[in-house]
Amino acid sequence: MTKRKPAKVIWRKLGKEKAWGQATIGENLIEIDPRLGAKRQLEVLCHEQVHLTFPGMSEADVDRAGKDLAALLWSQDYRRVVLAPNAKPPRIS
Ligand SMILES: [Zn+2]
Repeated sequence: MTKRKPAKVIWRKLGKEKAWGQATIGENLIEIDPRLGAKRQLEVLCHEQVHLTFPGMSEADVDRAGKDLAALLWSQDYRRVVLAPNAKPPRIS
């Protein structure tokens, strides 16, 4: 299997969409509201990626998967590193 490109993620205020995140399957695109707290950001990112990976999955199953993934990652201390503009992420093994 060829390596898939990660989804493009756009951070923008989602007001009229009445959602904290949304996934556009044909475009491999995730949009997420930057006003969320750190833990909810992780949860919504996981949730939207599950939508992209399993387009036919029910909302209830996607919700479970997103919450389980986020809770696991959070419990293992995975956190967002905020980088300076144009900085490259640090290499961590
Ligand atoms: Zn959903």
